[in-house]
Amino acid sequence: MIIWNETWIGNEKLKHKFKRLSRLETKIEASISERLSWDGIKCEGTWSWLRAPRGRASDELRLLKTLISDVKFNPQTRDSWKWKAGGNEIFTTKALTTLINSRVLTPSNSPCETLCNKMVPKKLEVFVWRVRKKRMSVLVELDKRGIDLHSVRCPLCDDAIETVDHSLILCKYAFHVWCKDFDWWVAGE
Ligand SMILES: [Zn+2]
Repeated sequence: MIIWNETWIGNEKLKHKFKRLSRLETKIEASISERLSWDGIKCEGTWSWLRAPRGRASDELRLLKTLISDVKFNPQTRDSWKWKAGGNEIFTTKALTTLINSRVLTPSNSPCETLCNKMVPKKLEVFVWRVRKKRMSVLVELDKRGIDLHSVRCPLCDDAIETVDHSLILCKYAFHVWCKDFDWWVAGE
């Protein structure tokens, strides 16, 4: 369970109750077990702040410590992830595929004909969808999502920024693969 972003104590999320403090958290998706430990008698926090809380943030930390001091853990119950989009809260790739098929690849939502083509394997449809949405792990997209990178230049050619277009089409190495592909098509005719 996520300590800041889920309602697990009181009736609101801790990131709303302790706004200043939560902004100092280095990992907003940290789980309860990552941040709290229970020695059988009392509960204590293992915090990781961007900088030491001061002013009102330190007041919030004091309140938070008081709040968690009353928390008791059931040693039989381990902190775990739950898949909330499916029926039985257990994640399976099948459940994810079904969800993508129903929510993304249905004809009414489909942005192009390729995504409705039953002749195209599903994993290829998903790949095309990811390319269209720029949800590829190319360096520019990782950088946009806050991942600290040494460089965003293409690691293959070092000639340009590694964007989705560059990685799949414009890079000279990708272009070489397209040429090989084209030769294969022509030879097959
Ligand atoms: Zn390149």
